[in-house]
Amino acid sequence: MATNGNEGWLKMIEELTTNAEQIQDEELGEILSRNAGTEYLRGFLHGQTEKQLFKKNVPIVTYEDLKPYIDRIANGETSDILLAEPVTGFFLSSGTSGGQPKLIPVSAEYHKKGALVGTFAQSPMMRHFGDINQAGKRMELMFARPEIETPSGLKAASVSTSIYNESKFRTNLPKLYTSPIETIFCPDPNQGLYCQLLFGLIQRDEVVKVGSLFASTVLRGIKFLENHWQELCYDIKTGRLSDWITDSGCRNAASLIMKPNPEQADLIENICNCKSWEGIIRKLWTKARYIGCICTGAMRQYTTELEFYCRGLPLVSAFYACSETFCGLNLEPLCKPCDISYTLLPNMAYFEFLPVKNERDESFEMKSNDEDTELVDLVNVKVGQCYELVVSTCAGLYRYKVGDVLMVSGFYNNAPQFQFVERKNVILSVDQEKTSETDLFKAVTEAKALLDPLGFILTEYISYVDTSSAPGHYVLFWEIKGKEGKHCKELDPKIMVECCSRMEESLHYTYKIYRKRNIIAALEIRVVKQGSFEALMDYFVSKGTSLSQYKKPSCIKSEEALKILDSRVIGKYFSPKPPL
Ligand code: AMP
Repeated sequence: MATNGNEGWLKMIEELTTNAEQIQDEELGEILSRNAGTEYLRGFLHGQTEKQLFKKNVPIVTYEDLKPYIDRIANGETSDILLAEPVTGFFLSSGTSGGQPKLIPVSAEYHKKGALVGTFAQSPMMRHFGDINQAGKRMELMFARPEIETPSGLKAASVSTSIYNESKFRTNLPKLYTSPIETIFCPDPNQGLYCQLLFGLIQRDEVVKVGSLFASTVLRGIKFLENHWQELCYDIKTGRLSDWITDSGCRNAASLIMKPNPEQADLIENICNCKSWEGIIRKLWTKARYIGCICTGAMRQYTTELEFYCRGLPLVSAFYACSETFCGLNLEPLCKPCDISYTLLPNMAYFEFLPVKNERDESFEMKSNDEDTELVDLVNVKVGQCYELVVSTCAGLYRYKVGDVLMVSGFYNNAPQFQFVERKNVILSVDQEKTSETDLFKAVTEAKALLDPLGFILTEYISYVDTSSAPGHYVLFWEIKGKEGKHCKELDPKIMVECCSRMEESLHYTYKIYRKRNIIAALEIRVVKQGSFEALMDYFVSKGTSLSQYKKPSCIKSEEALKILDSRVIGKYFSPKPPL
């Protein structure tokens, strides 16, 4: 499609969303005509390519169902087990299967779609913030992970690492970003982060965007800065990199750009030395037009704190994507984080939707299994209804459940817009009750409102079901920060007890019933020291999670993770009585 600058891309989005139904049919037609002869699809379609047959015969699957086929390709068998095109490599998704990262096949066609997205995904932002590529540089925190080689010799890497490896990205990096490539690929994420902040500060007058892939990484950067700004200023003043940065790539990159700059160091020191860090991002990077990072889903718990640091600058969550496929764009970049919707792009994959029960929809009848529930096409979803996303892609996934639950918030032209609801089945459960990420978020939001007027902010939380004593109970680890120099030790214990009660009151009906019947014991909040959640992240990173893709789990499942937080507890509080 011909484009004329940003207007051209915006026009393309108009056309895609207006003709969503036709484009989806073409997308499926293309997937089936290319791949009907593969071993997998032959088993269901016998070489046919009709949409109705696909809908009737091809089963709805999870990664576990496709894993044997994907593993065969990774082990050296031909790609046409799953797709006609050769598999060129794999993406490592942040999800795991049997303790191993999920391998998502990638092909040339998949890359073609990715390249297309890379170009026009920026267009809604350009409308509001201008062409930042022309205006200056981005201070983006980026972290690559080593690639893995499969037995067949194909490479597997996270999506972000694959992007950082692309020659186009590397060529444009010095012009568009403040971070040199060596800092992105630094094997020690702390050294990489220190240097990325250093380079971002040195080039602060050029920075027009601050961000990272996920909100948690931006916050980690700011917290790291809170602990290291004096040292960073010293390095800027003297033009010498701290000795603990031993990575030779980082040191070489620094030697090319660092020279003594006492004026800049003084300016930064003055800004960082102020009592409140409210709006610190805008103060440090005065030309920044917005903060870009995903702040929906598991990331929404970070938005309050991030909004504090970026006060005065919009927080923009630009897209919704997964390793399996790019999904959608946020066409209203200036909307509040709680109102963000993503418009699914019908040319990225064939999207179907499995209706799931929405708390507010009493009339909804869930069939006993997915096979009996009809999948709904993209253009036929209903506003207000929740669905699990099911995708068929050009790279060998057919009717594959991504594991995300989305709610339809409206339509843009004929394409639906979705709010990200939750990752499916992230739950706490002591008995028969099921508490979702959304339930928990709501209860925490209610409870933490008690802290705000007292000058305290809940900065991080994670949940855990403690069944070490009977009956079991919900435990919430909270990291709390005092505003303007207050210490969380000054918090009145009575308030924390009230937070426990408020949480219980805000949880769902079944929880309250079970609690009253003493099937669930009193909810507990364990307040942990500052830095505990960073220690938790460090632990997951040390186990192989990429810092760029790290998403704090909603609940703790590993003993080690539990030990990390339990060893940092500074106060334990319980709900005094069951909720009314
Ligand atoms: P990965 O495959 O490791 O890239 O992780 C993809 C998953 O990250 C998705 O399936 C979602 O659960 C989550 N995710 C990605 N983008 C967003 C977004 N904009 N909002 C909420 N969650 C997201």
